[in-house]
Amino acid sequence: MEHNTTICALSSAPGRGAISVIRMSGPDSVKILSESFSHADRLEHSKMVLGTLNADTLRDRVLAVVFYAPDSYTGEDVAEVHCHGSPEIVNAVLRKFVRSGARYAQPGEFTRRAFESGKMSLDEAEAVGDLINAQSAAASSAAYEGMRGALYRTITAVYDKILTVAGALTAALDYPEEDIESTTSAEALPVLGECEEELDRLIKSYGAGEKVRDGVRVAIVGLPNAGKSSLLNRLLGNDRAIVSANAGTTRDTVEGSYEYNGVLFTLVDTAGVRETSDETEAEGVRRSERAAKTAHIVLRVIDLSAPVMLPVQTDGIIIDVYNKTDIAAAPSDAEQSVSALTGKGISELKKRIYDAAMSGRVTAGGVMITNARHYRLALDAAEELRSAKEAFETDSIDLASAALSCALADLGGITGANATEDVLSDVFSRFCVGK
Ligand code: GDP
Repeated sequence: MEHNTTICALSSAPGRGAISVIRMSGPDSVKILSESFSHADRLEHSKMVLGTLNADTLRDRVLAVVFYAPDSYTGEDVAEVHCHGSPEIVNAVLRKFVRSGARYAQPGEFTRRAFESGKMSLDEAEAVGDLINAQSAAASSAAYEGMRGALYRTITAVYDKILTVAGALTAALDYPEEDIESTTSAEALPVLGECEEELDRLIKSYGAGEKVRDGVRVAIVGLPNAGKSSLLNRLLGNDRAIVSANAGTTRDTVEGSYEYNGVLFTLVDTAGVRETSDETEAEGVRRSERAAKTAHIVLRVIDLSAPVMLPVQTDGIIIDVYNKTDIAAAPSDAEQSVSALTGKGISELKKRIYDAAMSGRVTAGGVMITNARHYRLALDAAEELRSAKEAFETDSIDLASAALSCALADLGGITGANATEDVLSDVFSRFCVGK
Protein backbone atom coordinates (compact mmCIF):
# COMPACT_ATOMS: atom_id res chain seq x y z
CA MET A 1 0.00 0.00 0.00
CA GLU A 2 1.18 3.51 -0.81
CA HIS A 3 1.84 5.68 2.18
CA ASN A 4 2.44 8.98 0.47
CA THR A 5 -1.31 9.55 0.33
CA THR A 6 -3.41 11.17 3.03
CA ILE A 7 -6.59 9.32 3.97
CA CYS A 8 -9.67 10.58 5.76
CA ALA A 9 -12.83 9.06 7.21
CA LEU A 10 -15.51 9.45 9.82
CA SER A 11 -14.14 7.47 12.79
CA SER A 12 -17.14 7.70 15.10
CA ALA A 13 -20.37 5.80 14.40
CA PRO A 14 -22.35 7.14 11.42
CA GLY A 15 -25.61 8.97 12.02
CA ARG A 16 -26.72 11.88 14.16
CA GLY A 17 -25.17 12.37 17.60
CA ALA A 18 -23.65 14.92 19.94
CA ILE A 19 -20.19 14.71 18.39
CA SER A 20 -18.59 13.15 15.31
CA VAL A 21 -14.88 12.47 14.97
CA ILE A 22 -13.22 12.80 11.57
CA ARG A 23 -9.72 11.49 11.20
CA MET A 24 -6.97 12.06 8.64
CA SER A 25 -3.63 10.29 8.37
CA GLY A 26 -0.73 10.87 6.01
CA PRO A 27 1.87 13.48 5.11
CA ASP A 28 -0.61 16.26 4.22
CA SER A 29 -3.07 15.84 7.06
CA VAL A 30 -1.94 18.84 9.11
CA LYS A 31 -1.71 21.04 6.00
CA ILE A 32 -5.18 20.01 4.82
CA LEU A 33 -6.72 20.68 8.23
CA SER A 34 -4.93 24.03 8.48
CA GLU A 35 -6.48 25.23 5.20
CA SER A 36 -9.96 25.06 6.73
CA PHE A 37 -9.31 25.72 10.41
CA SER A 38 -9.42 29.20 11.91
CA HIS A 39 -6.70 28.63 14.55
CA ALA A 40 -4.19 26.54 12.60
CA ASP A 41 -1.35 28.58 14.14
CA ARG A 42 -2.24 27.20 17.58
CA LEU A 43 -2.07 23.52 16.56
CA GLU A 44 0.64 21.57 18.38
CA HIS A 45 1.19 17.87 19.09
CA SER A 46 -1.67 16.22 21.00
CA LYS A 47 -3.36 19.48 22.12
CA MET A 48 -7.05 20.11 21.49
CA VAL A 49 -7.70 23.53 19.94
CA LEU A 50 -11.14 25.15 19.71
CA GLY A 51 -11.86 26.98 16.48
CA THR A 52 -14.07 27.28 13.41
CA LEU A 53 -13.92 24.85 10.54
CA ASN A 54 -14.95 26.19 7.14
CA ALA A 55 -16.30 23.50 4.87
CA ASP A 56 -17.68 25.33 1.84
CA THR A 57 -20.98 26.91 2.77
CA LEU A 58 -21.10 25.07 6.10
CA ARG A 59 -19.19 26.10 9.18
CA ASP A 60 -18.93 24.54 12.62
CA ARG A 61 -17.26 25.24 15.96
CA VAL A 62 -14.96 22.24 16.40
CA LEU A 63 -12.12 20.86 18.47
CA ALA A 64 -9.09 19.97 16.36
CA VAL A 65 -6.01 18.02 17.36
CA VAL A 66 -2.88 16.92 15.51
CA PHE A 67 -0.34 14.18 16.25
CA TYR A 68 3.01 14.27 14.50
CA ALA A 69 4.74 11.14 13.18
CA PRO A 70 5.79 8.80 14.65
CA ASP A 71 3.83 9.54 17.87
CA SER A 72 0.36 8.84 16.51
CA TYR A 73 -1.99 5.87 16.14
CA THR A 74 -0.85 5.22 12.56
CA GLY A 75 2.75 6.30 13.01
CA GLU A 76 2.09 9.06 10.42
CA ASP A 77 0.97 12.68 10.83
CA VAL A 78 -2.64 12.53 12.03
CA ALA A 79 -5.25 15.28 12.28
CA GLU A 80 -8.61 14.88 13.97
CA VAL A 81 -11.67 17.08 14.01
CA HIS A 82 -14.35 16.69 16.65
CA CYS A 83 -17.35 18.43 15.13
CA HIS A 84 -21.05 18.40 15.94
CA GLY A 85 -22.64 15.09 15.07
CA SER A 86 -24.59 16.11 12.00
CA PRO A 87 -24.21 13.97 8.85
CA GLU A 88 -24.47 17.16 6.74
CA ILE A 89 -21.50 18.73 8.52
CA VAL A 90 -19.52 15.47 8.48
CA ASN A 91 -20.05 15.04 4.73
CA ALA A 92 -19.16 18.66 4.02
CA VAL A 93 -15.93 18.39 6.06
CA LEU A 94 -14.94 15.10 4.38
CA ARG A 95 -15.67 16.54 0.91
CA LYS A 96 -13.56 19.59 1.75
CA PHE A 97 -10.65 17.40 2.92
CA VAL A 98 -10.88 15.29 -0.24
CA ARG A 99 -10.87 18.40 -2.45
CA SER A 100 -7.79 19.59 -0.56
CA GLY A 101 -5.93 16.37 -1.44
CA ALA A 102 -7.01 13.59 0.92
CA ARG A 103 -8.84 10.47 -0.23
CA TYR A 104 -11.51 8.40 1.52
CA ALA A 105 -9.98 5.60 3.63
CA GLN A 106 -10.65 1.90 3.03
CA PRO A 107 -12.02 -0.25 5.89
CA GLY A 108 -9.30 -0.75 8.51
CA GLU A 109 -6.80 1.39 6.61
CA PHE A 110 -5.75 3.49 9.63
CA THR A 111 -4.97 0.34 11.60
CA ARG A 112 -3.27 -1.22 8.58
CA ARG A 113 -0.99 1.82 8.39
CA ALA A 114 -0.29 1.43 12.13
CA PHE A 115 0.70 -2.19 11.47
CA GLU A 116 2.82 -1.33 8.44
CA SER A 117 4.69 1.42 10.25
CA GLY A 118 5.52 -1.01 13.08
CA LYS A 119 3.21 0.60 15.68
CA MET A 120 1.53 -2.74 16.32
CA SER A 121 1.80 -6.40 15.34
CA LEU A 122 -0.89 -8.12 13.28
CA ASP A 123 -2.36 -9.94 16.30
CA GLU A 124 -2.50 -6.62 18.20
CA ALA A 125 -4.28 -5.01 15.23
CA GLU A 126 -6.76 -7.89 15.16
CA ALA A 127 -7.36 -7.36 18.89
CA VAL A 128 -8.32 -3.73 18.13
CA GLY A 129 -11.05 -5.12 15.84
CA ASP A 130 -12.06 -7.61 18.51
CA LEU A 131 -12.34 -4.82 21.09
CA ILE A 132 -14.67 -2.85 18.84
CA ASN A 133 -16.79 -5.92 18.15
CA ALA A 134 -16.71 -7.31 21.72
CA GLN A 135 -20.19 -8.18 22.94
CA SER A 136 -19.39 -9.03 26.53
CA ALA A 137 -17.15 -7.86 29.37
CA ALA A 138 -14.92 -10.96 29.08
CA ALA A 139 -14.52 -10.45 25.33
CA SER A 140 -13.52 -6.80 25.92
CA SER A 141 -10.94 -7.77 28.55
CA ALA A 142 -9.45 -10.50 26.35
CA ALA A 143 -9.25 -8.06 23.41
CA TYR A 144 -7.67 -5.41 25.62
CA GLU A 145 -4.96 -7.88 26.72
CA GLY A 146 -4.38 -8.82 23.08
CA MET A 147 -4.16 -5.17 22.06
CA ARG A 148 -1.59 -4.60 24.81
CA GLY A 149 0.57 -7.33 23.30
CA ALA A 150 -0.06 -10.29 25.64
CA LEU A 151 -0.21 -12.87 22.84
CA TYR A 152 2.47 -11.07 20.84
CA ARG A 153 4.98 -11.33 23.70
CA THR A 154 4.27 -15.03 24.26
CA ILE A 155 4.52 -15.89 20.56
CA THR A 156 7.65 -13.78 20.10
CA ALA A 157 9.37 -15.47 23.07
CA VAL A 158 8.71 -18.90 21.49
CA TYR A 159 9.74 -17.58 18.07
CA ASP A 160 13.06 -16.28 19.42
CA LYS A 161 13.89 -19.59 21.11
CA ILE A 162 13.20 -21.53 17.90
CA LEU A 163 15.23 -19.00 15.95
CA THR A 164 18.27 -19.63 18.19
CA VAL A 165 18.02 -23.39 17.59
CA ALA A 166 17.45 -22.87 13.86
CA GLY A 167 20.51 -20.60 13.71
CA ALA A 168 22.72 -23.21 15.40
CA LEU A 169 21.41 -25.83 12.96
CA THR A 170 22.23 -23.68 9.98
CA ALA A 171 25.79 -23.40 11.32
CA ALA A 172 25.94 -27.20 11.74
CA LEU A 173 24.72 -27.69 8.17
CA ASP A 174 27.08 -25.08 6.75
CA TYR A 175 30.16 -26.42 8.56
CA PRO A 176 29.66 -30.21 8.79
CA GLU A 177 33.36 -30.81 9.40
CA GLU A 178 33.16 -28.97 12.75
CA ASP A 179 31.18 -31.84 14.32
CA ILE A 180 28.74 -29.60 16.13
CA GLU A 181 25.72 -31.76 15.33
CA SER A 182 25.62 -33.76 18.55
CA THR A 183 26.01 -30.76 20.83
CA THR A 184 23.29 -28.98 18.84
CA SER A 185 20.87 -31.87 19.38
CA ALA A 186 21.58 -32.06 23.10
CA GLU A 187 20.96 -28.35 23.52
CA ALA A 188 18.09 -28.10 21.08
CA LEU A 189 15.76 -30.82 22.34
CA PRO A 190 14.98 -29.32 25.77
CA VAL A 191 14.47 -25.86 24.22
CA LEU A 192 12.11 -27.25 21.59
CA GLY A 193 10.31 -29.18 24.35
CA GLU A 194 9.69 -25.92 26.23
CA CYS A 195 8.41 -24.24 23.07
CA GLU A 196 6.08 -27.14 22.37
CA GLU A 197 4.68 -26.98 25.93
CA GLU A 198 4.08 -23.26 25.65
CA LEU A 199 2.33 -23.67 22.30
CA ASP A 200 0.23 -26.57 23.63
CA ARG A 201 -0.93 -24.38 26.52
CA LEU A 202 -1.94 -21.67 24.06
CA ILE A 203 -3.70 -24.17 21.80
CA LYS A 204 -5.70 -25.56 24.73
CA SER A 205 -6.68 -22.04 25.79
CA TYR A 206 -8.61 -21.66 22.53
CA GLY A 207 -11.41 -23.95 23.78
CA ALA A 208 -12.41 -21.25 26.26
CA GLY A 209 -10.87 -18.38 24.30
CA GLU A 210 -13.17 -18.57 21.29
CA LYS A 211 -16.17 -18.74 23.64
CA VAL A 212 -14.91 -15.69 25.52
CA ARG A 213 -14.60 -13.81 22.22
CA ASP A 214 -17.67 -15.01 20.33
CA GLY A 215 -19.91 -16.24 23.12
CA VAL A 216 -21.29 -19.68 23.98
CA ARG A 217 -24.07 -21.22 21.90
CA VAL A 218 -26.61 -23.04 24.06
CA ALA A 219 -29.42 -25.04 22.43
CA ILE A 220 -32.53 -26.00 24.39
CA VAL A 221 -34.07 -29.25 23.16
CA GLY A 222 -36.87 -31.49 24.38
CA LEU A 223 -40.36 -32.65 23.54
CA PRO A 224 -43.12 -30.10 22.98
CA ASN A 225 -44.48 -28.83 26.31
CA ALA A 226 -41.38 -29.92 28.26
CA GLY A 227 -40.95 -26.25 29.20
CA LYS A 228 -38.19 -25.11 26.78
CA SER A 229 -39.65 -21.65 26.11
CA SER A 230 -40.35 -21.14 29.81
CA LEU A 231 -36.75 -22.12 30.58
CA LEU A 232 -35.39 -19.73 27.95
CA ASN A 233 -37.46 -16.90 29.42
CA ARG A 234 -36.25 -17.74 32.92
CA LEU A 235 -32.61 -17.80 31.85
CA LEU A 236 -33.01 -14.51 30.00
CA GLY A 237 -35.14 -12.97 32.70
CA ASN A 238 -37.82 -11.76 30.28
CA ASP A 239 -40.60 -12.94 27.99
CA ARG A 240 -38.64 -13.44 24.77
CA ALA A 241 -40.25 -16.73 23.75
CA ILE A 242 -44.00 -17.28 23.65
CA VAL A 243 -45.07 -19.82 26.23
CA SER A 244 -48.18 -21.77 25.41
CA ALA A 245 -49.86 -24.95 26.55
CA ASN A 246 -50.42 -26.11 22.93
CA ALA A 247 -47.76 -28.54 21.86
CA GLY A 248 -45.74 -27.26 18.90
CA THR A 249 -46.00 -23.51 19.57
CA THR A 250 -42.30 -22.89 19.00
CA ARG A 251 -42.16 -23.58 15.28
CA ASP A 252 -38.85 -21.96 14.59
CA THR A 253 -35.77 -21.23 16.64
CA VAL A 254 -35.98 -18.33 19.09
CA GLU A 255 -32.79 -16.71 20.31
CA GLY A 256 -31.76 -14.53 23.20
CA SER A 257 -28.55 -13.73 25.05
CA TYR A 258 -27.48 -13.20 28.64
CA GLU A 259 -24.13 -12.55 30.29
CA TYR A 260 -22.71 -14.66 33.11
CA ASN A 261 -19.29 -13.90 34.67
CA GLY A 262 -18.75 -11.53 31.76
CA VAL A 263 -19.23 -14.24 29.12
CA LEU A 264 -22.03 -14.01 26.55
CA PHE A 265 -24.39 -17.00 26.31
CA THR A 266 -26.74 -17.17 23.33
CA LEU A 267 -29.72 -19.44 23.90
CA VAL A 268 -31.59 -21.06 21.07
CA ASP A 269 -35.01 -22.38 21.97
CA THR A 270 -35.61 -25.04 19.36
CA ALA A 271 -38.88 -26.40 18.05
CA GLY A 272 -40.04 -29.37 20.06
CA VAL A 273 -38.46 -32.41 18.50
CA ARG A 274 -41.22 -34.81 17.41
CA GLU A 275 -42.66 -36.44 14.30
CA THR A 276 -44.89 -33.96 12.51
CA SER A 277 -46.83 -33.69 9.24
CA ASP A 278 -46.97 -29.86 9.38
CA GLU A 279 -44.33 -28.66 6.85
CA THR A 280 -43.56 -25.40 8.72
CA GLU A 281 -43.11 -27.28 11.93
CA ALA A 282 -41.01 -29.95 10.18
CA GLU A 283 -38.62 -27.20 9.02
CA GLY A 284 -38.49 -25.94 12.62
CA VAL A 285 -37.58 -29.45 13.77
CA ARG A 286 -34.78 -29.66 11.17
CA ARG A 287 -33.43 -26.30 12.34
CA SER A 288 -33.52 -27.41 15.94
CA GLU A 289 -31.52 -30.50 15.07
CA ARG A 290 -28.94 -28.28 13.36
CA ALA A 291 -28.84 -25.89 16.33
CA ALA A 292 -28.25 -28.80 18.71
CA LYS A 293 -25.53 -30.28 16.51
CA THR A 294 -23.44 -27.10 16.44
CA ALA A 295 -24.14 -25.86 19.98
CA HIS A 296 -21.40 -25.80 22.62
CA ILE A 297 -23.96 -26.80 25.24
CA VAL A 298 -27.27 -28.61 24.80
CA LEU A 299 -29.88 -28.32 27.55
CA ARG A 300 -32.04 -31.43 27.19
CA VAL A 301 -35.27 -30.53 28.96
CA ILE A 302 -37.16 -33.43 30.52
CA ASP A 303 -40.72 -32.88 31.70
CA LEU A 304 -40.91 -34.53 35.15
CA SER A 305 -44.68 -34.97 34.79
CA ALA A 306 -44.11 -37.13 31.67
CA PRO A 307 -40.38 -37.93 31.58
CA VAL A 308 -38.93 -38.79 28.16
CA MET A 309 -35.23 -38.65 27.34
CA LEU A 310 -34.77 -37.60 23.71
CA PRO A 311 -31.75 -38.81 21.79
CA VAL A 312 -29.64 -35.76 20.82
CA GLN A 313 -26.89 -35.51 18.24
CA THR A 314 -24.36 -32.86 19.15
CA ASP A 315 -20.67 -32.03 19.15
CA GLY A 316 -21.21 -30.13 22.40
CA ILE A 317 -21.86 -31.04 26.02
CA ILE A 318 -25.34 -32.28 26.98
CA ILE A 319 -26.82 -31.17 30.31
CA ASP A 320 -30.03 -32.96 31.32
CA VAL A 321 -32.40 -30.47 32.89
CA TYR A 322 -35.36 -31.98 34.76
CA ASN A 323 -38.15 -29.41 34.67
CA LYS A 324 -41.36 -28.87 36.67
CA THR A 325 -39.99 -29.75 40.12
CA ASP A 326 -42.99 -27.81 41.50
CA ILE A 327 -45.33 -30.63 40.45
CA ALA A 328 -43.15 -33.75 40.44
CA ALA A 329 -39.97 -34.88 42.19
CA ALA A 330 -36.72 -35.18 40.26
CA PRO A 331 -34.83 -38.51 40.35
CA SER A 332 -32.14 -38.59 43.03
CA ASP A 333 -29.35 -38.74 40.43
CA ALA A 334 -30.75 -35.82 38.39
CA GLU A 335 -27.93 -33.63 37.11
CA GLN A 336 -29.95 -30.42 37.20
CA SER A 337 -33.51 -29.96 38.30
CA VAL A 338 -35.47 -26.75 37.95
CA SER A 339 -38.89 -25.27 37.89
CA ALA A 340 -39.06 -22.91 34.96
CA LEU A 341 -42.41 -21.80 36.38
CA THR A 342 -41.15 -20.71 39.82
CA GLY A 343 -37.49 -20.06 38.96
CA LYS A 344 -36.17 -22.63 41.43
CA GLY A 345 -32.77 -24.03 40.43
CA ILE A 346 -32.19 -21.48 37.65
CA SER A 347 -29.13 -19.78 39.20
CA GLU A 348 -27.54 -23.21 39.83
CA LEU A 349 -28.23 -24.11 36.22
CA LYS A 350 -26.57 -20.90 34.98
CA LYS A 351 -23.47 -21.72 37.00
CA ARG A 352 -23.47 -25.29 35.68
CA ILE A 353 -23.73 -24.03 32.06
CA TYR A 354 -20.83 -21.64 32.65
CA ASP A 355 -18.65 -24.33 34.26
CA ALA A 356 -19.36 -26.77 31.43
CA ALA A 357 -18.61 -24.17 28.74
CA MET A 358 -15.38 -23.08 30.37
CA SER A 359 -14.31 -26.58 31.49
CA GLY A 360 -10.64 -27.21 31.02
CA ARG A 361 -10.12 -23.48 30.69
CA VAL A 362 -6.39 -23.24 30.28
CA THR A 363 -4.57 -19.97 29.95
CA ALA A 364 -0.89 -19.77 29.20
CA GLY A 365 0.22 -17.34 31.90
CA GLY A 366 -3.10 -15.53 31.51
CA VAL A 367 -2.69 -15.39 27.72
CA MET A 368 -5.43 -16.90 25.60
CA ILE A 369 -5.89 -17.59 21.93
CA THR A 370 -9.33 -16.27 21.00
CA ASN A 371 -8.96 -16.06 17.22
CA ALA A 372 -9.38 -19.01 14.82
CA ARG A 373 -6.60 -17.77 12.53
CA HIS A 374 -4.11 -17.70 15.41
CA TYR A 375 -5.33 -21.10 16.57
CA ARG A 376 -4.75 -22.79 13.20
CA LEU A 377 -1.26 -21.29 12.89
CA ALA A 378 -0.35 -22.30 16.46
CA LEU A 379 -1.52 -25.87 15.71
CA ASP A 380 0.61 -25.94 12.55
CA ALA A 381 3.64 -24.57 14.40
CA ALA A 382 3.28 -27.18 17.16
CA GLU A 383 3.06 -29.93 14.54
CA GLU A 384 6.26 -28.66 12.88
CA LEU A 385 8.00 -28.59 16.25
CA ARG A 386 7.10 -32.23 16.82
CA SER A 387 8.48 -33.10 13.37
CA ALA A 388 11.66 -31.18 14.16
CA LYS A 389 12.11 -33.08 17.43
CA GLU A 390 11.64 -36.43 15.70
CA ALA A 391 14.12 -35.44 13.01
CA PHE A 392 16.64 -34.49 15.71
CA GLU A 393 16.21 -37.86 17.37
CA THR A 394 17.15 -39.62 14.13
CA ASP A 395 19.93 -37.11 13.44
CA SER A 396 18.18 -35.83 10.29
CA ILE A 397 19.49 -32.35 10.79
CA ASP A 398 18.38 -31.01 7.42
CA LEU A 399 14.80 -32.22 8.02
CA ALA A 400 14.84 -30.68 11.48
CA SER A 401 16.03 -27.42 10.00
CA ALA A 402 13.24 -27.42 7.39
CA ALA A 403 10.57 -28.15 10.02
CA LEU A 404 11.87 -25.32 12.24
CA SER A 405 11.69 -22.90 9.31
CA CYS A 406 8.04 -23.87 8.81
CA ALA A 407 7.32 -23.41 12.53
CA LEU A 408 8.89 -19.94 12.37
CA ALA A 409 6.78 -19.07 9.30
CA ASP A 410 3.59 -20.16 11.12
CA LEU A 411 4.39 -18.10 14.22
CA GLY A 412 5.39 -15.14 12.03
CA GLY A 413 1.97 -15.45 10.40
CA ILE A 414 0.33 -14.78 13.78
CA THR A 415 2.31 -11.63 14.55
CA GLY A 416 2.39 -10.53 10.92
CA ALA A 417 6.19 -10.78 10.65
CA ASN A 418 5.68 -12.67 7.39
CA ALA A 419 1.98 -12.46 6.64
CA THR A 420 1.03 -12.47 2.95
CA GLU A 421 -0.91 -9.69 1.21
CA ASP A 422 -3.97 -11.99 1.03
CA VAL A 423 -3.94 -12.46 4.80
CA LEU A 424 -3.47 -8.75 5.45
CA SER A 425 -6.28 -7.77 3.06
CA ASP A 426 -8.56 -10.33 4.66
CA VAL A 427 -7.78 -9.22 8.22
CA PHE A 428 -8.16 -5.48 7.59
CA SER A 429 -11.22 -5.74 5.35
CA ARG A 430 -13.14 -6.91 8.42
CA PHE A 431 -12.60 -3.56 10.11
CA CYS A 432 -14.98 -0.65 9.82
CA VAL A 433 -14.11 2.42 7.76
CA GLY A 434 -12.41 5.00 9.96
CA LYS A 435 -10.59 2.48 12.18
P1 GDP B 1 -42.12 -25.89 25.24
O1 GDP B 1 -43.15 -26.36 24.27
O2 GDP B 1 -41.14 -26.98 25.58
O3 GDP B 1 -41.44 -24.63 24.83
O4 GDP B 1 -42.89 -25.62 26.62
P2 GDP B 1 -43.45 -24.24 27.21
O5 GDP B 1 -42.38 -23.48 27.86
O6 GDP B 1 -44.29 -23.57 26.19
O7 GDP B 1 -44.35 -24.82 28.38
C1 GDP B 1 -45.41 -25.72 28.14
C2 GDP B 1 -46.37 -25.68 29.31
O8 GDP B 1 -45.71 -26.17 30.48
C3 GDP B 1 -46.85 -24.28 29.63
O9 GDP B 1 -48.21 -24.35 30.03
C4 GDP B 1 -45.99 -23.87 30.81
O10 GDP B 1 -46.62 -22.94 31.66
C5 GDP B 1 -45.78 -25.19 31.52
N1 GDP B 1 -44.54 -25.22 32.29
C6 GDP B 1 -43.29 -24.90 31.86
N2 GDP B 1 -42.41 -25.06 32.86
C7 GDP B 1 -43.10 -25.45 33.95
C8 GDP B 1 -42.73 -25.76 35.30
O11 GDP B 1 -41.60 -25.68 35.74
N3 GDP B 1 -43.75 -26.17 36.13
C9 GDP B 1 -45.03 -26.26 35.70
N4 GDP B 1 -45.94 -26.65 36.59
N5 GDP B 1 -45.39 -25.96 34.44
C10 GDP B 1 -44.45 -25.56 33.57
